[in-house]
Amino acid sequence: MPDIAFINGRFLAWEEATISIDDRGFQFGDAVYEVIRTYRGNPFELASHLARLDRSARELSLLQPYSRDQWMRWIQQGLSLSGYQDAKIYIQLTRGAAPREHSFPSENRPTVVMTIREFHPLGPEVRRAGVNACTREDLRWGRCDIKSVNLLANVLAREEAKKAGVFETILVRDGFVMEGAVSNVMAVQRGVVMTAPEGPRILSGVTRTVVLELAKKEDIAIEERFIPADLLYQVDEVFLTGTTLEVLGVVQIDGNIIGSGQPGPITRTLAARWALLTG
Ligand code: PLP
Repeated sequence: MPDIAFINGRFLAWEEATISIDDRGFQFGDAVYEVIRTYRGNPFELASHLARLDRSARELSLLQPYSRDQWMRWIQQGLSLSGYQDAKIYIQLTRGAAPREHSFPSENRPTVVMTIREFHPLGPEVRRAGVNACTREDLRWGRCDIKSVNLLANVLAREEAKKAGVFETILVRDGFVMEGAVSNVMAVQRGVVMTAPEGPRILSGVTRTVVLELAKKEDIAIEERFIPADLLYQVDEVFLTGTTLEVLGVVQIDGNIIGSGQPGPITRTLAARWALLTG
């Protein structure tokens, strides 16, 4: 079964799927993106991802050339061409190719790229055991709510995790937890789930929203507020949320054991509810 490539309304063989060296996505990171997961061939929360793509584009005055219905048709077509049941759909929308000049080009001709690849979820052993994380200073810009391809600070943070031999880097700004390099972060203390509020300092994860709704349905209290970084080692539970990670327990941060050293009861409840929703 093939990986699928799509550029500007055409499905192409992977080798033929190329874009101009003048593309502003390549030159300036002047582009936005989405990552969508399928479960048994169905894109999960597609409408939310497409709404966020629209919002990211609008915030940067990027032209979004396709309607949501058109996107849904392209995605369905791509999924049937791939035949994948568990797929990772990547969409990127750039400000197009133009001679290299920082200010916007006079003509607005965006480049739209979509790829569809098979997705290999994390194994059940990792989910059962939980993962380790480290904390690092958040070096990102002031509009983390826009899902832009300007990911250099996230790339460096992921590299820090790799060097530290842990799964994720938790980003800390002015002494407070923002989110992970590729995830949102939630902590549980005395039965209350805390997570950074929506705003320019975090990406409002699609998974974050769904997990907070699941928590409400379970009558679990939620506080959307910034968690002091020095509280992080003392809370009962920490978990990450994200399209590819789902609900993933964190059991050690900077070498400090969190809670019992295993994913805690609220993490396990929310992970189980997530599995019911998507399974
Ligand atoms: N925060 C950051 C920085 C991310 O890169 C991601 C996902 O890639 C998330 C949060 C989680 O977002 P979502 O749940 O929409 O995948």
